[in-house]
Amino acid sequence: MSTIRVNVVTPDGKVYDGDVDMVVVRTIEGELGILPKHIPLVAPLTVGAVRLKKGNSEEQVAVSGGFVEVRPDQVTILAEAAELPSAIDADRARAAKERAESRLNSTKQDAVDFKRAELALKRAINRLDVTGK
Ligand code: ATP
Repeated sequence: MSTIRVNVVTPDGKVYDGDVDMVVVRTIEGELGILPKHIPLVAPLTVGAVRLKKGNSEEQVAVSGGFVEVRPDQVTILAEAAELPSAIDADRARAAKERAESRLNSTKQDAVDFKRAELALKRAINRLDVTGK
């Protein structure tokens, strides 16, 4: 069975580089499953998990926005931030989640702060989901 090469890259460097059977990403239009020989495309990503399927196993990478570029033999994910579960500090994510929640619950704030807190909350929840905590 053929495989597809996946690279996950952030401004801090490479987070993942490997061959998988299938990769599932969360674009702004919904979930996209990519198999080898997929048609080329570029799509913006939302905060979410990238799922890397190989045989019966699946690895996840927490991705905080960015873009996916699909070519028939290669998928490149350019992310603002991305972490494998082993790199995620769950206490830090919990603290970020609490900070964002209290900002969202506060009455005095403008729309920009609200949007920012919402995104921070999504990143924190995504990181906790990926660690399974
Ligand atoms: P925080 O408020 O804790 O900084 P954040 O969501 O604002 O969280 P980002 O701006 O998304 O953080 O990421 C900044 C850098 O910190 C990135 O390199 C990202 O990979 C890393 N990072 C953020 N949160 C965590 C975490 N819980 N565990 C490990 N690395 C993290």
